[in-house]
Amino acid sequence: MSPEPVRLFFALWPEASLQQALYEAGNKLYQRCGGRRTRRENIHLTLAFLGAVEADRLQRITDVADQITLPAFDMLFTRLGWWRQNQVAWAATDETPRSLIDLVKQLQLGLSAEGFKFDERRFQAHVTLLRKANCPPGLIESPPILWQAKDFVLVRSTLHEGGPHYAIVKRWPLQPKAD
Ligand code: ATP
Ligand code: MG
Repeated sequence: MSPEPVRLFFALWPEASLQQALYEAGNKLYQRCGGRRTRRENIHLTLAFLGAVEADRLQRITDVADQITLPAFDMLFTRLGWWRQNQVAWAATDETPRSLIDLVKQLQLGLSAEGFKFDERRFQAHVTLLRKANCPPGLIESPPILWQAKDFVLVRSTLHEGGPHYAIVKRWPLQPKAD
């Protein structure tokens, strides 16, 4: 009998104080755009989405992440915005750190070798704060938010009617910065 599939993705997971700051930015968006807010404890940045995976492939997936040795990095979230096509409102960085681009690339490369497919679109570092949003034109201002990424995680998602539940399966450290 094959084990039940699990829904998995790799992510950067902010600590509670950072989730709070991003949630407050989400409230600003919400006042302007409506929609459905991401629950505070669910706020994250997706690195690579795997979808439903047979549980017996988990070892190979964690093996891919075990190979990664990249430095920790800082991100400054300075922008709030909205994508009309998928009605997602987000916070985003002004610049994507090299180490983040490399992290996504190395995950995609390793996971592709395991048969996972990723779309060709350029990776856009963002944190989803609203779904089904409809934002009026114009900039939405919010204080910049500093995120010092020190690790990355594999997350299991369970979809429920009231929204998804996320559980961290495993955590990998990034290399401490020299300073
Ligand atoms: P719901 O689907 O109930 O709205 P969700 O999208 O937050 O909830 P999942 O669908 O399990 O939960 O997705 C987990 C994470 O992966 C989210 O950050 C989501 O935006 C992202 N994600 C989901 N599907 C894809 C996809 N096909 N490509 C890239 N990222 C995805
Ligand atoms: Mg989804």
